Amino acid sequence: MSKAIQAVRGMNDLLPETVERWQLVEATARDVLHAYGYREIRLPLLEKSELFARSIGSQTDIVEKEMYSFEDRNGDNLTLRPEGTAGCVRAGIENGFLHNQIQRLWYAGPMFRHERPQKGRYRQFHQIGVEAFGIDTPDLDAELILMCVRLWKSLGLEGLTLELNSLGTPESRATYRAKLTRFLKARRDQLDEDSLRRLEKNPMRILDSKNPAMQPVIAEAPNLHDHLDEDSRTHFDRLGEYLKESGVAYRINPRLVRGLDYYTRTVFEWTTDRLGAQSAVCAGGRFDGLVEQLGGRPAPAAGFAIGMERLVELLARQSPSPSSGAPEAYLVLLGESAGKHGLRLAECLRNAGLRIECHCGGGGLKAQLKRADRSRARFALMLGDEELQDNTVTVKDMRGKDVQVSVHQDVLIDFLNERTGRRVKT
Ligand code: ATP
Ligand code: MG
Repeated sequence: MSKAIQAVRGMNDLLPETVERWQLVEATARDVLHAYGYREIRLPLLEKSELFARSIGSQTDIVEKEMYSFEDRNGDNLTLRPEGTAGCVRAGIENGFLHNQIQRLWYAGPMFRHERPQKGRYRQFHQIGVEAFGIDTPDLDAELILMCVRLWKSLGLEGLTLELNSLGTPESRATYRAKLTRFLKARRDQLDEDSLRRLEKNPMRILDSKNPAMQPVIAEAPNLHDHLDEDSRTHFDRLGEYLKESGVAYRINPRLVRGLDYYTRTVFEWTTDRLGAQSAVCAGGRFDGLVEQLGGRPAPAAGFAIGMERLVELLARQSPSPSSGAPEAYLVLLGESAGKHGLRLAECLRNAGLRIECHCGGGGLKAQLKRADRSRARFALMLGDEELQDNTVTVKDMRGKDVQVSVHQDVLIDFLNERTGRRVKT
């Protein structure tokens, strides 16, 4: 036997048991997003590499070392999208749906980053992303956060904390950045290797360091909030008021800087202490300058992205697996005549909206019931010569609550609807 080929490191197969939970999250998210008037947009996985350098920022970790970039057969430099915002803005400019318009959009799908794979951190991972364009006031920021709250509630998720910060305008940020760089340079001997590397190119990311040895320097560093411009401060305060008004608890974290260059003013993160080191489940903020930066006419914007793997993992820890996809019944077919009639019966039941797994490949009763058990179906419907004769099926409750009963085929749909608690349309 030749050696089996394995998946690319950091890229996961999602097996059917897992996918059921994903589908639950996706369906719930879609309902919540639609409830706020957001519409789905579907975008390419591949974009020109330049798009990400120009939006995320050429000095960021993502662009410097995490992108899957390659030259295609035409010699074009392309990248598998590491996030969705850049592509969404590109599409908005290209299709002309941003200028002077309000757009509320969402998307879902895989993203690619060449990071070190570990629990909650993969090279292909999935995001549900939300972007709103054309509104520069903090009521929109509040709406985005309320949408998250509603989603956590709908999923029954607990233990998520909202962290909030403001990065100010590019101008106020530049002033702060210069001051921070001076402060850090004077303490060069206390900086770790990572921070030394970031000192010139991306000093604000140093505030984000998880290294305990760095915490004393970080604690003493100048505070971004003391350097916010007047408008950004007002924006931030008003967002706080909206959230209080809506009963949403939050923690201001002046060290929350985010890893992407395009953010302005509001940034936020939802974190949990139940997933170990990869604690951020959702992150977002305002990016008022990005549309113009990518060649469009200026348009304010804000959004967020949810990390699906982390959200699903959090949900899995809290609630037993959903069995929404299991068939209601497994059809056991004994003998040749039953085999023929069985396909027709199964179609009839499916016409009534029931999920039916039909036995294929013949075999004895015992073997077929074993398969019925594995299918997770609630009922086994047994059809043999005798049943064919008097137009019945023998129904066995696979959870053992009932003995076997004989049910006439004319009332089988009603019987199954009633026993599985399905709502019957009248
Ligand atoms: P982190 O600080 O965990 O690296 P990030 O700031 O790089 O996250 P964003 O780019 O803002 O993350 O993406 C939003 C969300 O997507 C994150 O909060 C996280 O839940 C998820 N995410 C980001 N990178 C990965 C990854 N490599 N694997 C799995 N999920 C990820
Ligand atoms: Mg990251």
